[in-house]
Amino acid sequence: MTRIAVAKGDGIGPEIMDAVLSVFSAAKVPLEYDFVDMGKWVFDKGYSNGMTPEAQQTIESLGILFKGPMETPKGKGVKSVNVTARKTWNTYANKRTFQTLHGVDTVFSKAGIPIDITIVRENIEDTYGGIEHMLTHDVALSRRFITRPGSMQVIKYAFEMAKKKGARRITCGHKANIMKITDGLFLEVFYEVAKDYPELKADDVIVDDLCMKLVSKPDLFDVVVLTNLQGDIVSDLCAGLVGGLGFAPSANIGDHISIFEAVHGTAPDIAGKNIANPTALLLSGIGMLRHLGLMESAAMIENALLFTLESGIHTGDFGDKAVPSVNTTQFTEAIIANFGKLP
Ligand code: ATP
Ligand code: MG
Repeated sequence: MTRIAVAKGDGIGPEIMDAVLSVFSAAKVPLEYDFVDMGKWVFDKGYSNGMTPEAQQTIESLGILFKGPMETPKGKGVKSVNVTARKTWNTYANKRTFQTLHGVDTVFSKAGIPIDITIVRENIEDTYGGIEHMLTHDVALSRRFITRPGSMQVIKYAFEMAKKKGARRITCGHKANIMKITDGLFLEVFYEVAKDYPELKADDVIVDDLCMKLVSKPDLFDVVVLTNLQGDIVSDLCAGLVGGLGFAPSANIGDHISIFEAVHGTAPDIAGKNIANPTALLLSGIGMLRHLGLMESAAMIENALLFTLESGIHTGDFGDKAVPSVNTTQFTEAIIANFGKLP
């Protein structure tokens, strides 16, 4: 049995995490869980980084954190627990996969255009240092850090992952025409690493042009690597291509610790109503099972999920509006009932 740390999170976090863990349990996934204290209620207890020292210790000793979305209390001086976690454990690569899912209608699925895009977003640097201040009463200044080693580790990860995945193309998205020094450095490192991967077609596209191309010809893209802020924005755009935030899984990969979570946030508007879509977190969980080498469990759950989506069962946020939607519990039960079925 492998032990992992689990934090249910805030908002819809507990509902969708319970849904995913009940699917895992029904599939007899060989995992044991250490539930750790992280999130808004931990901030409220007075822990300024949103996690208890025990939680931090557990996560560091187990190496894997499976987490629900977390809310950062509003106000100055409080840092997002999500950002703190990525920084504390140097999970430098944020891998987000966006794939056509049969049964999830989009303009592209209706047109028969298949999408399979993996975004690798640098996860530590850029403007996320949160170093900003007022220069004068009327002038605000933000600093942006891009380093060679920081760029190197995420770009190497992206190329290695692309090679393992059998990708044809790897693209660097950037704005080096304007930010010649910072994005220029990221782009320079990209082509330096590309030399070691002659089997991959490596190219670059300026980020605004990339957005236009992604929404018009998404099937031309395979793996795309970007700096932190641009990667954040482009990945929400890609979530829209495949049906929305309910379908976007994510993995934060570091050398010692990896964090698996959905791309979406706490969705406070629908929290506590048992209507949230657990698919993004379930897809993140499936990615985690593969990361841990639990290929059979991953395949069984993935097949059941895809079968369920294909058969038209859907929560309120997607699917054929003419077909009544089901709630989170019913959606979860449908997946479990479909174990053994193939999409
Ligand atoms: P946060 O500040 O935590 O990111 P948010 O208000 O930005 O919260 P998101 O979670 O990012 O909310 O969600 C944006 C929209 O998408 C909301 O209307 C939310 O209800 C919807 N949404 C997000 N995740 C899901 C989900 N899993 N199932 C259904 N709807 C969702
Ligand atoms: Mg949000």
